[in-house]
Amino acid sequence: MTVSTKNNIYSNFIGGQWVESSSGDVIKSINPANTNDIVGYVQNSTKQDLDSAVASAKKAQIQWKKLSGAERGQYLYNVANVMEKRLDEIAECATREMGKTLAETKGETSRGIAILRYYAGEGMRKVGDVIPSTDQEALMFTTRTPLGVVGVITPWNFPIAIPIWKVAPALIYGNTVVIKPATDTAVTCAKIVECFEEAGLPAGVINIVTGSGSVIGQGIADHPDINGITFTGSNGIGKQIGQSALKRGAKYQLEMGGKNPVIVAADADLDLAVEATIAGAFRSTGQKCTATSRVIIESDVYDAFKEKLLAKTEEITIGDGLKEGIWMGPCANKNQLQTVFTYVQKGLDEGASLVFGGEQPKGNEYENGFYIQPTIFENVTSNMAIAQEEVFGPFIALIKVDSVKEGLEVANDVQYGLSASIFTTNIAHMLSFINEMDAGLVRINAESAGVELQAPFGGMKQSSSHSREQGEAAKEFFTSIKTVFVKG
Ligand code: NAP
Ligand code: MG
Repeated sequence: MTVSTKNNIYSNFIGGQWVESSSGDVIKSINPANTNDIVGYVQNSTKQDLDSAVASAKKAQIQWKKLSGAERGQYLYNVANVMEKRLDEIAECATREMGKTLAETKGETSRGIAILRYYAGEGMRKVGDVIPSTDQEALMFTTRTPLGVVGVITPWNFPIAIPIWKVAPALIYGNTVVIKPATDTAVTCAKIVECFEEAGLPAGVINIVTGSGSVIGQGIADHPDINGITFTGSNGIGKQIGQSALKRGAKYQLEMGGKNPVIVAADADLDLAVEATIAGAFRSTGQKCTATSRVIIESDVYDAFKEKLLAKTEEITIGDGLKEGIWMGPCANKNQLQTVFTYVQKGLDEGASLVFGGEQPKGNEYENGFYIQPTIFENVTSNMAIAQEEVFGPFIALIKVDSVKEGLEVANDVQYGLSASIFTTNIAHMLSFINEMDAGLVRINAESAGVELQAPFGGMKQSSSHSREQGEAAKEFFTSIKTVFVKG
């Protein structure tokens, strides 16, 4: 057995071995809560490293796809058990590496374990249907076949759950994988891969190659031996990957940004709406693709809602997510912090009013981190950049409307369509929201950012390639249907 890390330098995992990159070069991963804290170093890999990982995955797939679903499932159960033992360590690493609080990363690790178990069970569930043939003496049915080698490209905002919700279904349906994690959270991903190794997966079934998006990410999109690409990240990069995949006829799946609205109707339970808006907008420092970023409020309750929202926002404690009593950590990286500042300026320039935050909090403990206060703008109109573009930070725009009907029009007036919530006690409002809201996830009297692992997840419009992840829906991407006709 080879070791994954030497002197805090993490290797790539290729063909069942931890190996250094042919570049001889590494990349530093730092703690966004304290930039003097180095979490580790990862390989700055080359195209040759990727080629070698793809070759291992391709070779391993020949045997892996021959196992029964139950056997593959047993491996995933084993990974889940290993991860459960290492939960605290993995969560702590993720908090140090991306900044969200320990409570959140522990929850995320538990989510990862539950996803592994869900897909382990999937290995024993049905894969096809019997379809009546017009020939009475024939049997016609569908079965599923794996794609082959799947390239997995992940972002930093859910450094544990996203790699797992892509890798687990890929493996259970008989594919092998090469993962390229976000560089900002590559150490956490290496630890996840260690769990697969510890669980005894055959060599080459899972491989990790770290490095830059433009070399390894683009390399995956272009690689002739990668049959499917599953990507979560920004809109621009996603579209580029889609085009590269399309050019060579590979299957692809893109999950991208959002500009998720919450509608607060005049008949809503305002305390519930405030609670959910705060959780949806500011948990994980607003860096969830399903985060609430627009709050659309009926004018009758606008002042009451705003007052309660500001009072609750005031209570948010900001700081190092490893510390007790901290509710919100820093932004995950310097770019993200800069993006939030840019949108604060844009909001002011556009004539919106800043009613909370917008600045780095004051105090010694904030000096070495990428901290920002929760930020709230009002007097926002739907055409402003802060109401149209994804910020990916703890940032909300309050928009006043005269009716739920107008609220729905505003809610739909963006290029994205990932998740959306309404707070109302009126059944007619609920039904029109369900029918008219263009979003992959519509939630009633619940925050925009809740997702359950056994249900399909994905967006409409510019938020996704219109495929769905998670739950049973994952089968559609990670397999191809084979229609079988048998005549004796
Ligand atoms: P990103 O910059 O698009 O990066 C995502 C992944 O793509 C990373 O692994 C990145 O590698 C890689 N990459 C970068 N440039 C590439 C290229 N030219 N070719 C191929 N791959 C490349 O996104 P991010 O900043 O990490 O994440 C934030 C974004 O993700 C937000 O827009 C958010 O909405 C979206 N997101 C969406 C969902 C969803 O399910 N809809 C979930 C989470 C996040 P490096 O890290 O090395 O740059
Ligand atoms: Mg990035």
